[in-house]
Amino acid sequence: MALPKWRKGPGIYNESKNLPIYQHKATLQQAVKDNSFLVVTGETGSGKTTQLPQYLHQAGFWSNGKIGITQPRRVAAITVAQRVSQEMHCSLGREVGYQVRFDDCTTQDTVVKYMTDGCLLREILADPVLSQYSVVILDEAHERSLNTDILLGLLKQTLSSPDKASKGRCVPLKVVVMSATLETDKLSVFLGGCPVFTIPGRTFPVTSKFSCAIGPKDTESSVYVKEVVKVALDVHTSEMAGDILVFLTGQSEIEKACDMLYEKAESIDYRYDVQDHKVEGLLILPLYGSMPTDQQKQIFQPPPPGIRKCVVATNIAATSLTINGIKYIVDSGFVKQLNHNSRVGMDILEVVPISKSEALQRAGRAGRTSAGKCFRIYSPAFWEKCMPEYTVPEIQRTSLTAVILTLKCLGVHDVIRFPYLDRPEERFILEALKQLYQCDAIDRRGKVTRLGELMVEFPLPPGLTRALLQAASLGCEDLLLPVAAMLSVENIFIRPEKQKEADKKHRQLGVQAGSCNDFTMLLSVFEKCKASDAPSAWCKDNYIHWRALKSAFSVETQLREILLRLQKKRDFPMEKFDGNKSELFRRCLCTGYFTNVARRYGVLHNGWAWIHEHSIKSPKCILHISPHRSLFDQEAQLDWVIFHDLLVTSRIYIRTVCPIRYDWVKDLLPKLHEVDVYELSSVAREEVTDEEVAKWVTKEAAKRQTDVFKKLE
Ligand code: ADP
Ligand code: MG
Repeated sequence: MALPKWRKGPGIYNESKNLPIYQHKATLQQAVKDNSFLVVTGETGSGKTTQLPQYLHQAGFWSNGKIGITQPRRVAAITVAQRVSQEMHCSLGREVGYQVRFDDCTTQDTVVKYMTDGCLLREILADPVLSQYSVVILDEAHERSLNTDILLGLLKQTLSSPDKASKGRCVPLKVVVMSATLETDKLSVFLGGCPVFTIPGRTFPVTSKFSCAIGPKDTESSVYVKEVVKVALDVHTSEMAGDILVFLTGQSEIEKACDMLYEKAESIDYRYDVQDHKVEGLLILPLYGSMPTDQQKQIFQPPPPGIRKCVVATNIAATSLTINGIKYIVDSGFVKQLNHNSRVGMDILEVVPISKSEALQRAGRAGRTSAGKCFRIYSPAFWEKCMPEYTVPEIQRTSLTAVILTLKCLGVHDVIRFPYLDRPEERFILEALKQLYQCDAIDRRGKVTRLGELMVEFPLPPGLTRALLQAASLGCEDLLLPVAAMLSVENIFIRPEKQKEADKKHRQLGVQAGSCNDFTMLLSVFEKCKASDAPSAWCKDNYIHWRALKSAFSVETQLREILLRLQKKRDFPMEKFDGNKSELFRRCLCTGYFTNVARRYGVLHNGWAWIHEHSIKSPKCILHISPHRSLFDQEAQLDWVIFHDLLVTSRIYIRTVCPIRYDWVKDLLPKLHEVDVYELSSVAREEVTDEEVAKWVTKEAAKRQTDVFKKLE
């Protein structure tokens, strides 16, 4: 069958020969042969991610082990692997494959493996010298994701002690660190002064224009979503041919903006409105992390003649993925970022202004193949007052609990003096140690416990893993496995235009399940759908997201496999419980989530939250979140709940909520401040004796505990 005319372009191979990296193929192949560490840098779109692994494959590196390439983002790992498998003329999962959390698309034949940095970190746990790999490429190092930073430190440590590095390997491992411009000298110094290879780029000038629409006080998403839509349409009607890339922050905004664009683009009278008469229509395409991959493919295809493509994307299009043909950028000035919020003591996904360096990177996407234009919807005052110079590395702004546990399991006892490219604040490390202690993953000496060794095997947040292991030790893992799976996929509840009807259905589901909380609701939906003869129809009837639920089924199977493997070990903990099933379930949750506890209260001030309207416990009521001491400052015996996470908009919402009895957490709560961070700081640094440990239960800590009990009982 003949392809539609607009799809016929030059073959992929010719295209890749035009990429800037192509001329340096032989030099790069040689440089990797000659050095244990190499930094490669070049403008985004120069071909680093898609080409270098192929060059190394052609140079024969695969004969000594796999070529592994890490990406901070899962979509990037999947999309690029797809592309490279096409370029190498093999089906995805054979020679070229990918692995991301809960989705392994590799086989024994796979020699070029794209994966998330989190996946490689897990592999290091099982095999510290990465004996299966000949080369490891840490891509997108400039993104400074937490896992990539930790990998950098670990590989530096391993390779700098030759005994360790060669143990269990035939040939030495090669490490390539790839980064879009920025900070390459720092990387090279960190890696012992390794060579830096710069791919000379060609970029074209991009003119950037500010607007007055968004000032320092306009942070409401409805405002900037409307504004980017308006600007994108202006560009479409008044600018010459060339595709548009709009930067927004997340899925729901992107979908909203696309809907608005569809509606408005339809009403454009092309005879009068579009000045450049070569452009007639607008092809609107969303791009965000959890989008189905077949839809993502469309993004890369050139639009039909006379049609302008408008991609509305998250930050993923800033460096991870390069879309050809972009000439106009519309920059909202915001990004969704995971930040540690000290007010509530948890990590929260927040919408924040981007940094100035990020804004320059976004604008640069318009100048890859010809001169371009960037329309910033924010004012110069916003640029000056709200946007920081650089983005703070993730390691300095998010919870370190999971990575510290990984480091500890890898035998890195001194987590404070670990070689970090940028050192996190000591209090963040101590906070992580405290949380690990609270969920019994480490003991007071900072040593990993048996439970900690089990916990590290699960790619889940520590609290959830703790609850799951508690359930398993009581023989009721069937209750928690589906819940853990459901919390690991995107939201399964659809709330379309027919919101009321959907809400009604969801409430009915809750009532049928006799469920009194959001966790049992998740369990019930999972079980009902699984038992149904026509699961996809069942989902449609009940306004449930079938694709998300299908991935939850697969995640559940994978978690079950991990658990079965661990249960076969001799010392898997077992306990007994006398009580009813509903209580059993909620008490298991308490073991993991007692740090996320809240109770109903009447007044609104700092640290107050609302139950999210998607929760079946809604109508909204106000709760006091008390992961911290403030819990103990109030009167006791009110309605208590635990929750999975927080959403911060103009208000703080707690999501996925479960009522509990105070009695169930009473004995756990003192743990919240049983160890002092100062004690942990000495644990973190050195080995300590039992006597010293005994001293830590200071009089003061003991008194505090007694006070707490007095107040609460
Ligand atoms: P870098 O890593 O240096 O930023 P890449 O290797 O990602 O560069 O991109 C090189 C080229 O490959 C770009 O022109 C990009 O558009 C193209 N490309 C990357 N992924 C895909 C894909 N999935 N489909 C089509 N083209 C792609
Ligand atoms: Mg890249």
